[in-house]
Amino acid sequence: MPPKIAGLKNCFGCGLCAAACPRKIIDIRLDADGFYRPFIDEIDSCIRCHICDETCAFLNPDNEFPAPVGSFAVWSTDDETRARSSSGGVSLEIARKLMSDGYKFCGVRYDIQKHRAEHFIASTPEEAIESCGSKYIQSYTPDAFKKIDLKEKYLVVGTPCQIASFRRYIRKFNHEDNFVLMDFYCHSVPSMHAWKHYITKVKKTHGEMARVSWRDKKNGWHNSYRILIDLISQTKSGSPNQYSSAFSDGDIFYRLFLWDLCNNEACEKSCIYKKNKSQADIRLGDLWGNTYHNDKKGVSAVVAFTPKGKSVIENLDTCVRKPHTFEVVTEGQMKNNIRHASMRGLMIKYLRTGHASTAIVKALIFIQRIINKTNRILKIK
Ligand SMILES: Cc1cc2nc3c(=O)[nH]c(=O)nc-3n(C[C@H](O)[C@H](O)[C@H](O)COP(=O)(O)OP(=O)(O)OC[C@H]3O[C@@H](n4cnc5c(N)ncnc54)[C@H](O)[C@@H]3O)c2cc1C
Repeated sequence: MPPKIAGLKNCFGCGLCAAACPRKIIDIRLDADGFYRPFIDEIDSCIRCHICDETCAFLNPDNEFPAPVGSFAVWSTDDETRARSSSGGVSLEIARKLMSDGYKFCGVRYDIQKHRAEHFIASTPEEAIESCGSKYIQSYTPDAFKKIDLKEKYLVVGTPCQIASFRRYIRKFNHEDNFVLMDFYCHSVPSMHAWKHYITKVKKTHGEMARVSWRDKKNGWHNSYRILIDLISQTKSGSPNQYSSAFSDGDIFYRLFLWDLCNNEACEKSCIYKKNKSQADIRLGDLWGNTYHNDKKGVSAVVAFTPKGKSVIENLDTCVRKPHTFEVVTEGQMKNNIRHASMRGLMIKYLRTGHASTAIVKALIFIQRIINKTNRILKIK
């Protein structure tokens, strides 16, 4: 029987199947809707070992999750790290700490040539800096995951679904001891068509891009859903010209993403990792809610799910750490999966044409808002 992976039309796109396949015949590429999926072009080379199917968290949804063993508010004492990170800069501090203990780090950077987020392996704390800050698009994993030597020590960070598959992978080959796994509270991932549409418009009006950040804190952490792009062109003083656009001012990418207008169907229908459900040792997030609502620099929500994760957090000497109840730490997090947006199919089809007009994208967003409002009044879910 061919692997089930071969017939998957809609999955998390975590790419672990490609890393685990002993014949390396699974390719991860964008599908027509702009999401990473596995493709097997040479099915005759498949040896039917089914390791890909076994590794896949989408095909094998977990029934059991470890209970949280500690929850904290944490932030880096280094202001620079905190400024370049999405919340408290804890991800980089954990990477630095574990690297000093002999671990390598597998995190996500943005490749400005290919315009994609991708997992990469950092061997030094300097190399790990590129991982700072959330890239709110699906990351391309297989190149990095294939390079990981299971016999060496690694900190691996990713979305909860990527980490759930990663857990299955290292458990299958009996190498869990070598790994610290870290995920985060995850809204969902948007179609790459949305991001490509966005950057095409930016490049057309502002020229080529040198660097992207999705979370600019210049107006404070609570208003940091702001995309800041350093452009190749320079000001008279030699610093890069910048493009800046915030969700609170109607940024179109953030509207598409955070209003669930073009997000992965698997996030809507199959995500089982909200609240206290994680296969990671450590989970991060933004500590929204009442307790830190006056903070301007960023506070990370940190939940330890294993004694190993807890010990990593308790030994972080470059961070401020405050224990809180799980409820306080996760107060602002989504309780349910993203909603189904009736305009989603149409929006993705339109964006994939490659020459979508922003006015029409905005009109579709507006129609969705009217539908949502009407549904709320009529109490339709
Ligand atoms: C798609 C996405 C959705 C998210 N949704 C939520 C949410 O609903 N609620 C919430 O509180 N937090 C969410 N986060 C996490 C949040 O943005 C912060 O990453 C978190 O607060 C930790 O911040 P930090 O300052 O400690 O570290 P940061 O410096 O922000 O570290 C981010 C870490 O995430 C990794 N990373 C970055 N982009 C990606 C990516 N595309 N895929 C996989 N790993 C990535 C990096 O390698 C780095 O280790 C989301 C992140 C992403 C990428």
